[in-house]
Amino acid sequence: MAFRGVDYFRVDSLFNEEERMVRQTARRFAEERIMPLIRDCYRDARFPSELIPELGELGFLGANLEGYNCAGMSNVEYGLVMQELERADSGIRSFVSVEGALVMYPIFAFGSEEQKSRWLPRLQNGSAIGCFGLTEPDFGSNPAGMRTTATRDGAGWVLNGEKTWITNGGVAEVSVVWARTPEGIAGFLVERGTPGFSTSDIHGKLSMRASVTSSLSMADCHVGDAARLPGAKGLKSALACLTQARYGIGWGVIGAAMDCYETAREYCVVRKQFDNRPIASHQLVQEKLAWMITEITKAQLLAVHAGRLKDQGLADPAHVSMLKRNNTAIALDCARLSRDLLGANGITDEYPVMRHLCNLETVKTYEGTDHIHALVIGERVTGIAAYK
Ligand SMILES: Cc1cc2nc3c(=O)[nH]c(=O)nc-3n(C[C@H](O)[C@H](O)[C@H](O)COP(=O)(O)OP(=O)(O)OC[C@H]3O[C@@H](n4cnc5c(N)ncnc54)[C@H](O)[C@@H]3O)c2cc1C
Repeated sequence: MAFRGVDYFRVDSLFNEEERMVRQTARRFAEERIMPLIRDCYRDARFPSELIPELGELGFLGANLEGYNCAGMSNVEYGLVMQELERADSGIRSFVSVEGALVMYPIFAFGSEEQKSRWLPRLQNGSAIGCFGLTEPDFGSNPAGMRTTATRDGAGWVLNGEKTWITNGGVAEVSVVWARTPEGIAGFLVERGTPGFSTSDIHGKLSMRASVTSSLSMADCHVGDAARLPGAKGLKSALACLTQARYGIGWGVIGAAMDCYETAREYCVVRKQFDNRPIASHQLVQEKLAWMITEITKAQLLAVHAGRLKDQGLADPAHVSMLKRNNTAIALDCARLSRDLLGANGITDEYPVMRHLCNLETVKTYEGTDHIHALVIGERVTGIAAYK
């Protein structure tokens, strides 16, 4: 039977016709194109790059940006796309998040007109892939400490340093690299093939297996001044990109949670134990399903509210921290409970829950860990920045 969504509380009534249509398009794409191949991709640690042109054609890349062939979706429409993609797999949603929020957005917001017209149409249709290099081996939660430098060299710059855990790094035509300059942290567009620039993929991941994760190395890597994002001023510009991406995560993880909940619910009404009764007839099982659907409903409401505020320009980074942290945490708990309710079957890849569970461990860590977002919320309510 076709998936009809997880909607306990008539949350659908908060969406207009256009939003529901965008969601339906993304849902169909996820079900027809991603779900049939994702288990094998995950087993083989392969990103399904054959889907990239379709992601572009559907307008999902840079979906909430205007101009340069971008779809100009509202933030709620964009969020619903993220939700449906992540219902299939967090790795596919990560690809779309990075391309749109972490590569196209900085070029859109901080780039020169030449950078925008050169890159945005190609990134939008997927003929070019991008990555975002902020994290370094010794600086994850604290990117302000980064060691990568960009020093003046005549009219251009020389970059030196290493970035790691970079989604799409090994397949990117263009890397947005953040580096320390005498004037502060700046962003650079480094093209594949630039002498001194190299990448190596990270293997052995037990999470996000259908996503490429790499290290970037810059060794006396010369770029022209035209490679610098002229509008990017300090770490706050890099963090502004992360706010865009975290917003999408706040929606995306609801999709993973929905898939885990629905898988568990369907399983529990069919699976029988003790006197041939469905395990769903046991109170302890119902309590878990009740917890899941309640938390999913709260996460949906938080996401819609954040989206409406963002469309009015009223969502700030501390709002997005709460959205990312809460929704990721409940999605991870839904995945764990679902895995539990499926018993031994829950550990196989015949069901999607263990894959979601493993993926969500990454989602909890990247784009600001759960702890760091707690401290952002803590700072908002106390005025004291505990992480500094
Ligand atoms: C699959 C994957 C893809 C990624 N993609 C990208 C990407 O595309 N681009 C990119 O730049 N990065 C990317 N990252 C990196 C990610 O953003 C970092 O892993 C994240 O910021 C955490 O940094 P860390 O791993 O160095 O952990 P650490 O910063 O070392 O943290 C380890 C633990 O210490 C805790 N901790 C640290 N400081 C504090 C504090 N002050 N108070 C309380 N607790 C604290 C953390 O919450 C965490 O629990 C990716 C990571 C993964 C796993």
